[in-house]
Amino acid sequence: MPLSGQTCRVSAPIQRDILVIGGGPAGAAVAIRAASAGAQVTVFEKGPRGRDKICGDGLTPRAVKALSDLGVGLDDAHRTDGLRMIANKTVRELEWPGLDPFPAHGAVWPRRSLDLHLMELAEKAGAEVFWEHEAMPLVEGGRAVGVESGGRHYTGDLIVLAAGAPGPAHAALGVARDPNEPFGLAIRTYAESPRHAERHLEACLTLRDANGVPVPGYGWIFPAGDGTVNIGVGALSTMKGFKSLNLNHLQDSYRSLVGDSWQLGPDLEKPRAWRLPMSTTRRHGPGWVAIGDAAGLINPMNGEGIDYGLESGMLAADLFLDDPFTAPDRYDVIIGERLDSFLRTGRRFSFLIGHPWILRSGLRVAVGTQAVAAITLQVMGNLVDSSTPGAGGRAMRAADRVLAAADRPLRATRASA
Ligand SMILES: Cc1cc2nc3c(=O)[nH]c(=O)nc-3n(C[C@H](O)[C@H](O)[C@H](O)COP(=O)(O)OP(=O)(O)OC[C@H]3O[C@@H](n4cnc5c(N)ncnc54)[C@H](O)[C@@H]3O)c2cc1C
Repeated sequence: MPLSGQTCRVSAPIQRDILVIGGGPAGAAVAIRAASAGAQVTVFEKGPRGRDKICGDGLTPRAVKALSDLGVGLDDAHRTDGLRMIANKTVRELEWPGLDPFPAHGAVWPRRSLDLHLMELAEKAGAEVFWEHEAMPLVEGGRAVGVESGGRHYTGDLIVLAAGAPGPAHAALGVARDPNEPFGLAIRTYAESPRHAERHLEACLTLRDANGVPVPGYGWIFPAGDGTVNIGVGALSTMKGFKSLNLNHLQDSYRSLVGDSWQLGPDLEKPRAWRLPMSTTRRHGPGWVAIGDAAGLINPMNGEGIDYGLESGMLAADLFLDDPFTAPDRYDVIIGERLDSFLRTGRRFSFLIGHPWILRSGLRVAVGTQAVAAITLQVMGNLVDSSTPGAGGRAMRAADRVLAAADRPLRATRASA
């Protein structure tokens, strides 16, 4: 009980339209879109202003389109024209296909500057951004009603979980990775290279672990155009021995494979690894939606997620602006219609290539000729869907059917150990 003369100060919750937990591309996209239309948006980011994100920094044409839909140009990025796929001695240099609605170019944009650029655009659009503010959703009677951060309570009509790979904020909303589905792990660093301005990404599809087992995943060198390249390796959890896979060793062996041809300087920072979530148990509920990595929206066939983060963020904002009350349910349905089938096919594909002999023979086919490799690029980059005409669309439809039929045996014989 307050003593006489003392004031008892209980700060009232701060009311906003949208509260966003996480300031990566997904959180920035929802903030830019909604704040530009006049909504009151607050973003909580636990990292400091200009925080980095462990990533390959590669933007596929799909990501470039999503940025353009958000009004973001590529002036600060290094433009790319295509991808060089390497599988043992086979080298296929391919151009981005330019299939409508995606442009015929991609980009490399180091995340430290891409993410800051996006958050600055969110601020310019009128969003309030709190750096170094970890936030937790507040749930009352099964409904997300706000967030707590820095000892303060905020209430909002929509809570957006844009917090990346699963952590405490996800758990508070019952969001977790589906334990029956695959996920990825990847590691990267930067190094100087005289080839930093090249316009093709490079991916080596024939990695092997320390025991010589083929790794479902790839090693990459993505030229950033600023004197450096991003070099890393990633692997899917469907491989045998995944739990004991040493990513640092894999990175070292990939580096020694490509170091000479790229004349790589020493690592500019210690290689760092992070998770790639590829599924989720829930992506919406009363008063909230999960977007980007928090919703498991990563392409299992190539590990890209920046595009889906941007797309899902814009969608969440648009649906909220249209009708805040129905936004979470409609978000779940529309994301399902747009992405579920492709991502499910990708997950099935990752079980398939978890078997070394399938991976070996599949790769021979996938890069067997220039024409087939071009289709591989379209399918893996999600630049086609099952309604796309032409060879890429046909390949996608066939993959959908075959992998759906093989789903049970694939999971039953999963190579994972
Ligand atoms: C090694 C590696 C390489 C990759 N390469 C590529 C690539 O080349 N191209 C591509 O498209 N994708 C790539 N990806 C995937 C890509 O990085 C992600 O899909 C993308 O970052 C997803 O964006 P997001 O906004 O959903 O999440 P994030 O970028 O992870 O952002 C989430 C943010 O939330 C913050 N946060 C978390 N919890 C809280 C909390 N409780 N309160 C406040 N803030 C919180 C985090 O600090 C973080 O800043 C790669 C991933 C890895 C690991």
